[in-house]
Amino acid sequence: MLAVPTSNTAFAAERFSYEIKSGDTLAKALNAAGMSGQQAYKVNQALAQHLDLKSIKPGQIVQVEKNIDGVGGKSASSTSASYRVLLDLGFAGMAEATLVNDSTVSQYAQLVPQIRTVSVEFTVSGSVIDSAVEAGVSPEVILELSETLESQVDFKRDFAGGEDISLRYEEAIYTYGGQRKRIPRAINAASVQTSKGLFEVNRIGEGDEQKLVISKNGKIVLSLFLPVHDARLSSAFGRRKHPVLAGWMMHKGVDFAANRGDDVFAVAAGRVTLAGREGGFGRVVRLSHANGMETIYAHLSEINGRLKPGSRVQQGEKIGEVGRSGLATSNNLHFEIRKGKESLNPLKASTMEKLDNAPALAVQD
Ligand SMILES: [Zn+2]
Repeated sequence: MLAVPTSNTAFAAERFSYEIKSGDTLAKALNAAGMSGQQAYKVNQALAQHLDLKSIKPGQIVQVEKNIDGVGGKSASSTSASYRVLLDLGFAGMAEATLVNDSTVSQYAQLVPQIRTVSVEFTVSGSVIDSAVEAGVSPEVILELSETLESQVDFKRDFAGGEDISLRYEEAIYTYGGQRKRIPRAINAASVQTSKGLFEVNRIGEGDEQKLVISKNGKIVLSLFLPVHDARLSSAFGRRKHPVLAGWMMHKGVDFAANRGDDVFAVAAGRVTLAGREGGFGRVVRLSHANGMETIYAHLSEINGRLKPGSRVQQGEKIGEVGRSGLATSNNLHFEIRKGKESLNPLKASTMEKLDNAPALAVQD
């Protein structure tokens, strides 16, 4: 437990910061910050209308600001102090709930971040991660870059030192409790010089269409129609430690970390074979395409109500919304491509060619 009282005359008389430990509930954190059982209950209820509080994870930070003088300048007795509760939601940002005069008003808001574009260039010296951090880049950005280029570049072996890396991505900045929290968004452009050649990553297109294009020495090696836009690639295809089931297992698709409710698009024209619940996939849409190809979109929060087995779907058509249904630890899209029973790596050129070469699926450009 971490309960550190600080003072800030600008807003609150007292501030507490609590780091969630394994087995903790939000109510426990609020109690530790000095809120009564009833006050904690009220805040819990207010947040539970918008968030899945069972998903609170160790390491998440809860901040509680206690304002003795009341919110909005109204004076209140010391027994009816106002509280502002800030919950760190990781990549989803920050949530805020305000309790005024003990129990009368509860407000909920998802804090609006300031967005800035980061363009950075650095030269590798030592490990890529260390060089990036020194240049002010979050480790998550390099993780995403290495997952994106997994089939092409070995981030442990392909750098001897002296290689140049440039990156462009957006960053959401949250200011709360006198602190700044930076959350990187998807990489829009990157160029990576390695002993194997120059690799470039670009996210291109607008509207219903967004593609991830990877090139090597100026020649396109992969063009993936993205099922969710502006989302970070959070886990690539292959043998991974499973976040929920703990042990090592084969990750049969790729994951895109996105916000709950973000649109999910069909990556190719096809026909619905399933639009409903299926085990660990949660709410899922399965599409069949020509040549025995299949695409799978899992952990959805919503499925387009029009979709029924047999429905036709166009490339770029919205089929649902991002969520965390089934075996998922956070809002993300698990995207899979299969041929028959075999799962193929969506980030491999050969996979996309199979999908693109299917007669009914001609890509427009
Ligand atoms: Zn997955």
